[in-house]
Amino acid sequence: MQKYVDAFLRAFNGTISWTWKSIIFEVPWYNNYFWGIIFLSLSVFILEVLFPWRKNQAVFRKDFWLDGFYIFFNFFIFAIAISGVYKILELIFLEVGISIESLSIINLESLPSWVQLLIFFLVLDFVQWVTHILLHRYEFLWQFHKIHHSVKEMGFAAHMRYHWMENVLYKPLKTFGVIILGGFEPEQAYVVHFMAIAIGHFNHSNIKITWGPLKYIFNNPVMHLYHHAYTLPEGRYGVNFGISLSMWDYLFKTNYIPENSGKVPLGFEGDDDVPRYFVGQLFYGFRKPKK
Ligand SMILES: [Zn+2]
Ligand SMILES: [Zn+2]
Repeated sequence: MQKYVDAFLRAFNGTISWTWKSIIFEVPWYNNYFWGIIFLSLSVFILEVLFPWRKNQAVFRKDFWLDGFYIFFNFFIFAIAISGVYKILELIFLEVGISIESLSIINLESLPSWVQLLIFFLVLDFVQWVTHILLHRYEFLWQFHKIHHSVKEMGFAAHMRYHWMENVLYKPLKTFGVIILGGFEPEQAYVVHFMAIAIGHFNHSNIKITWGPLKYIFNNPVMHLYHHAYTLPEGRYGVNFGISLSMWDYLFKTNYIPENSGKVPLGFEGDDDVPRYFVGQLFYGFRKPKK
């Protein structure tokens, strides 16, 4: 028992001290998520102000500050809170003789590092796409994901408005992705993670980016806006599930962009039931869904 308590505390304190070191610039810039996310958010925000897609949307749109808080909550506060729990799970798996290495399917080590990074990016994006579909497909998962879909006016920070359980729900499949890759999480994964966050920020921003022909590969604000549309096509539980890449939606025919005025109403039927403030939203996912 003591072993688990120690491991929990070590992971917990480790994450706190890493976050603190990031804040006071002791972590180098290329590894510094804290200032990296602030810099990225401000950059996308400035672009939104300079080149707005929906010109009559307020600069500080509805829920701007709520979503801004979510960036810090989901990225740092929750990461600190959960770190010890993940460590204990890892220990338990090791105890019963399961290590990530023992389950690996392919080994990337012999490949050039850019190929490794590319495969890492593709596999992780695909498993997240699958997870995202599950969040829409199953009622009890949708109840958590509703927080993200309660956004009524879209802007970059909406990217990070999601129930903390989503961090937990995405974890098993992401871990599965890493397992397939032989426990491979490359040194330079920061670059990949950060690119994914940047694309996610842009997908939710009030900027009209379509990428031209590259839209069949990369997700974009026009496509993702329709993911948030209030009214879905007849008989569908969702469209455009892509995270960083749109190509899975095109490959599996879940793509849907009927027009690109940016004026489609957002949300879902019953979204007025979602609490407007953070604390209410924290527990909302565990409520029984209203019919
Ligand atoms: Zn969704
Ligand atoms: Zn979204």
